[in-house]
Amino acid sequence: MARINENYRKLHAGYLFPEIGRRVAAVAEANPEAKIIRLGIGDVTLPLAPAVVDALRAAADEMGTADGFRGYGPDSGGYDFLLDAIREHDYASRGIEIARDEIFVSDGSKQDSGNFQEIFDTSCRVAVTDPVYPVYVDTNVMAGRTGAMQESGHYAGMLYLPATEANGFTPDPPSEPVDLVYLCSPNNPTGAVADRDNLERWVAYAREHDAVLVFDAAYDAFISDPALPRSIFEIPGARECAVEMRSFSKRAGFTGLRCAYSVVPAEASGRDASGGRVPLRQLWARRHATKFNAVPYPIQRAAEAVYSPGGRKQTGEQVAYYLENARVLREGLGEAGFTLFGGVHAPYIWMRTPTGMGSWECFDRLLGEAHVVGTPGAGFGPAGEGYIRISAFNSRENVAEAVTRIRGAFGA
Ligand SMILES: *Cc1c(COP(=O)(O)O)cnc(C)c1O
Repeated sequence: MARINENYRKLHAGYLFPEIGRRVAAVAEANPEAKIIRLGIGDVTLPLAPAVVDALRAAADEMGTADGFRGYGPDSGGYDFLLDAIREHDYASRGIEIARDEIFVSDGSKQDSGNFQEIFDTSCRVAVTDPVYPVYVDTNVMAGRTGAMQESGHYAGMLYLPATEANGFTPDPPSEPVDLVYLCSPNNPTGAVADRDNLERWVAYAREHDAVLVFDAAYDAFISDPALPRSIFEIPGARECAVEMRSFSKRAGFTGLRCAYSVVPAEASGRDASGGRVPLRQLWARRHATKFNAVPYPIQRAAEAVYSPGGRKQTGEQVAYYLENARVLREGLGEAGFTLFGGVHAPYIWMRTPTGMGSWECFDRLLGEAHVVGTPGAGFGPAGEGYIRISAFNSRENVAEAVTRIRGAFGA
């Protein structure tokens, strides 16, 4: 008898985006001539940068030659040319030394942030923020690290740290110990960014309680203030207690190409049953080599091209374009009296719903009257109730049009 993993049945049934999809389809069907503007799902919209396309083409041609053909990639996932580009441009440029064998190239930060929990015992207590990127929560539920979903909208056994206006959506460490903490900065969904002081408190907490920080920096390229940390490894002491995930998805439009990486420093460790220290890198390397066969060579060449002079300029312009969209949203809606957060160092605006309106009610109003799709904050956790996430991933024209329509829908 093939017993199923019952933990999967604890997962909250109606996943957010399918439900949004159903409601959008219903409105589209009822209003066939409506031009619906989608500022919901967090997917990029600009075409790939020319430097990336050129590198993809060149690598494809190379693969068609006897000398240039490549089969399976390296066990760590990354070719040296990409590892070195990452080390130089993402780390050395900020004064951080990362070794080649601390970088694991993969096909996505969704996968990495979801898979990382596998190298820890099911008894580990996990902390997440509320609202939260659902992957961190659901993968721990699947692994059996929680109880059932409770009335509160939280899974039993998981610690939720409310991200609120009062704490600038960057919660401080709790007073109780946990074993694993997921942090995402710049944040999806709130658009908030953690400052150095906040990250220092997290690193101090992790060292004190022997916890591991899983730091998701998928949106690091959107940080526009050079004084803000872009990596957890800018914080002294983080190498002993943190791992970091980064992705080419949002910074260079790779959501369809698929390339990301995790940094697991040599010093980061967990404990075995008898209390001995075990390097996390050793376990992650073993997992990676067993379950993954590397990112395709042409995709890694395309990722390398993101760091070329042309690639940096072109992808920098893409990020700037989305950030300008975010500014148009912030200013246009802010002037109309809406209360907004985020959107300065992130492609997301976190908008407080007009008085007394629930997240889904606000979503339905936006969709039904403005034909604009947002994402209900409540879909990211109970503390997201009363907010709606508006994405800046769209054309400038659509974003400007959305501002006008949203104002109209709320008589603002
Ligand atoms: C988009 C996103 C990622 C990136 O996922 P990929 O699998 O690399 O496309 C990771 N974390 C968060 C919070 C995201 O929003």
